Amino acid sequence: MIVTDTLNIKTTKIGQSKLANVDFQNLPFGKVFTDHMFVADYEDGEWKNFELMPYGPIPMSPAISALHYGQAIFEGMKAYKLKSGEISIFRADKNFKRFNISAERMAMPTIPEEIFMKGITSLINLDKAWVPEGDNYSLYIRPVMFATDDKLGVKASSNYKFVVLTNPSGPYYSQPLKVKIETHYTRADEGGVGYAKTAGNYGRSLYAFSQAQKEGFDQIIWTDSKEHSYVEESGTANLMFVINNVLVTPSLGGTILDGVTRDTVLQVAKSLDIPTEERKVPIKEVISKIQSGELTEAFAVGTAATITQIGIIGYENDLFTLTDPTTRVISHKIHKVLDDIRYGRSEDVFGWNT
Ligand code: PMP
Repeated sequence: MIVTDTLNIKTTKIGQSKLANVDFQNLPFGKVFTDHMFVADYEDGEWKNFELMPYGPIPMSPAISALHYGQAIFEGMKAYKLKSGEISIFRADKNFKRFNISAERMAMPTIPEEIFMKGITSLINLDKAWVPEGDNYSLYIRPVMFATDDKLGVKASSNYKFVVLTNPSGPYYSQPLKVKIETHYTRADEGGVGYAKTAGNYGRSLYAFSQAQKEGFDQIIWTDSKEHSYVEESGTANLMFVINNVLVTPSLGGTILDGVTRDTVLQVAKSLDIPTEERKVPIKEVISKIQSGELTEAFAVGTAATITQIGIIGYENDLFTLTDPTTRVISHKIHKVLDDIRYGRSEDVFGWNT
């Protein structure tokens, strides 16, 4: 069936929905895709060919420049089923802005807000039966843009594809993490692309991550590339500590991704009169404050798992065990306020639900 709307989105519906085959009690992250996807093309200097179609392979040349020269960016956000039954996308405006910041840094075209938002909302509308209900359930939304010129030669591509994929996502149970402070490999450098959500940042992180896993760690804490003296991020999440009852997080610079959850947690903390500090955080301070008992909470914050507690930190050849995560007051308090807003159980005082 073909229908159109204001963007002239062509809609081709799936013959038979896959929804009945999905086990919502067992939803591994990022593996189950909803019935449809949104696709648009950038050609001749403009966005066109808006289409909702069944999720599946897109035929493409192996010469596309995204594969060779790495012009590929993406986003990650979530939609929630509210208590009222409505579906809300959490802080999509912030993801939209970050998408275009990434596009600009990677010499890719920016995308108008209407296309970004309409692409997402029309897809969710079509696949609304897939948005799971209940605590810790959500629909993960993955917009991606990549270069599609099918010729070799290092230059910014003239053609791009914008695609939105969605995954129902369930509770993300995680033991407190054992993380390694990485002082050899780096995720990002001054003057580089660390603040952009671009594919290469993830590609370059994988070897260090697999080495850390072989050493028995769950995740890495990245440090600055110049001196390896300051902590920056934890894997694919921002990093936070509670030191003497102050919520401390590394300040943004060119090397740290401006996380939506980071900003959300900081704003919730301020509204609860919890003091916050955004500043450089030396490794030495983290270690000494764990030892003195002044560092009482450490956690990673990001869209996928919201708040993930850190239980053990490895640095050089030593392991430092933190406080029992069940006793951590500040992160639990912030998490609860956040969930109440996202699931529509309390008033959306910050205006974060769309
Ligand atoms: N840092 C990196 C490198 C990430 O990939 C992510 C996940 N997007 C984050 C931080 C957390 O960002 P957000 O809260 O927007 O998901």
